[in-house]
Amino acid sequence: MIPGRPPARPGSVPEPDPTADQATKDAMSNATTVSPAHSASTASTLITNIASLVTNDPSLGDGSPLGLVQDAAVVIEGDRVVWTGDQSKAPATDNRVDAGGRAVLPGFVDSHSHLVFAGDRTQEFNARMSGRPYSAGGIRTTVAATRAASDEELEANLTRYLREALRQGTTTFETKSGYGLTVEDEARALRIAAAHTDEVTFLGAHIVSPDHAEDPASYVALVTGEMLDACAPYARWIDVFCEKGAFDGDQARAILTAGRARGLHPRIHANQLSYGPGVQLAVELDAASADHCTHLTDADVDALAGSRTVATLLPGAEFSTRAAWPDARRLLDAGVTVALSTDCNPGSSFTSSVPFCVALAVRDMGMTPDEAVWSATAGGAAALRRTDIGRLVPGAYADLTLLDAPSHVHLAYRPGVPLVSGVWRRGERVV
Ligand SMILES: [Zn+2]
Repeated sequence: MIPGRPPARPGSVPEPDPTADQATKDAMSNATTVSPAHSASTASTLITNIASLVTNDPSLGDGSPLGLVQDAAVVIEGDRVVWTGDQSKAPATDNRVDAGGRAVLPGFVDSHSHLVFAGDRTQEFNARMSGRPYSAGGIRTTVAATRAASDEELEANLTRYLREALRQGTTTFETKSGYGLTVEDEARALRIAAAHTDEVTFLGAHIVSPDHAEDPASYVALVTGEMLDACAPYARWIDVFCEKGAFDGDQARAILTAGRARGLHPRIHANQLSYGPGVQLAVELDAASADHCTHLTDADVDALAGSRTVATLLPGAEFSTRAAWPDARRLLDAGVTVALSTDCNPGSSFTSSVPFCVALAVRDMGMTPDEAVWSATAGGAAALRRTDIGRLVPGAYADLTLLDAPSHVHLAYRPGVPLVSGVWRRGERVV
């Protein structure tokens, strides 16, 4: 049982078994994100007249991975789901919400974003999409703007994008540091992020800091030493951009191993721009997720299929850079668990919209609408090693998205349309 979390109800899914260290962090983070004044009441609420309910529990409804229940209802109490099923069998409750014959699905789990930053890169994007050369500094541009920003500016920026994501149905998000690249600036980014989510990732190894451009080894030493010491208290995860021009396999292994020794669990930016060692390293280190996975050998796909490591696909990046799409079909056919996330960041994927990523995945990456919706909910939860989100089953958090549509398929069928008409987070209606 995790301090700060209520006891699981009968029939609930088991919580992941966190280390004591992690339990302390969860309690600390919950204390900041769910104050008593904002916690949901313990009154029970029935959401009924749901034409199509995605539960992600294959033992329910149609027996598919989505566990689709037609003419369904959900009962929430406090911050949890306590009942899911046929609306004609729903128990009595204190309150009632009529879903109006529309679709309900778990809130999206965006397991990969970079939201602590300042500035934007409109001109860089415009030049790239206009076929014009552009020689600004890429990530370095954002690093300079982020270092120059006040804490208040960074937090205001973060909350703006969080609200934007929430309006589009995202109820859990992971976010990273990586635009500070000094001890103080990385720790500051994580401290700000940790006030808004439990899923905080230390990405001091985003690029080699410009301050260490002549001596990358000295930067790896900083990341694995003083910077890690300053950042570990605020983070659950450690990440590395393993790519030509960023960090090679040996550097990435050193950084992730150092993080693991400090109680951080690995995830990795792998095989985005080229073939490389990232995916194999992710599997070797039991990383929760290998993210991007755009350039994979057969051996990479086999390694993922034989592991617990989720392949997180981020089609906003390929969209925004006009790059070749990752092949979701190949991964799914091999039995790999696939997550879909936004990679929201000001350089290569400035979208906070999971529905947009779902539509891209269906149109261009070989996913069915059902697979894409699963990957954006239960898949994202798997990439965060969580079973208490991404599913609408008794014991899970009451994180729900109501669509102004009769089916989840409309997320891909009606791309670009603001279909999200209601969001409950932790049992509280927030949209
Ligand atoms: Zn990223």
